[in-house]
Amino acid sequence: MKTPKSAIEVPEGLHKLLLHACCAPCSSAIVEWLLQHDIVPTIFYFNPNIYPLDEYLIRKNESQRHARSLGISWIDGDYNHSQWLQFISGLENELERGRRCEQCFRYRLLAASQAAARTNHCWFATTLASSRWKNLEQINAAGLWAEQQTQGTRFWAQNWRKGGLQQRRTELLREYGFYNQQYCGCEFSFRQTDNKMPAQADTECSLT
Ligand code: SF4
Repeated sequence: MKTPKSAIEVPEGLHKLLLHACCAPCSSAIVEWLLQHDIVPTIFYFNPNIYPLDEYLIRKNESQRHARSLGISWIDGDYNHSQWLQFISGLENELERGRRCEQCFRYRLLAASQAAARTNHCWFATTLASSRWKNLEQINAAGLWAEQQTQGTRFWAQNWRKGGLQQRRTELLREYGFYNQQYCGCEFSFRQTDNKMPAQADTECSLT
């Protein structure tokens, strides 16, 4: 089913997009919507927040599988968890949706804006903004901050929860059989689950 374009406003002149992907499930409905509306996405997978490495590799491989299945470009960002830890240093004990997450969004979206500039994309966006578990204001603030750091780029501050995309995400997650993560990503978010993997929740991005 094609989502009405009016549910999501496309900035004038946007025909291709560098899309920072937090994971395959969150990318799925957004990428489908972009393709349906003649916007060419390039997926940028950059999530050095994820710990441990095995978990990172599973999520990364799922994102790559998703892009390959659609024949769209996919860029592998670096994984340097130590550098990410330095960036959020002092905020380890913050709760989710707190200041650690603000820094985490900044870190990832700055890399996205720089990747956009390198690959001749003006516009960039993030699938983080599709998650009801995330603070949309924090994400948009981080995206606009990253835009200001990187000349020639623009952040598309879009609420990707609208227009039936949440429901479509759930459908696509099942259709693809995507791995459905059980915690946001960093070791601190894992600890906040009391070291138990919740049975249903996929907290980075979960909508199932
Ligand atoms: S809880 Fe998620 S968004 Fe927040 S710092 Fe950890 S990985 Fe980043």
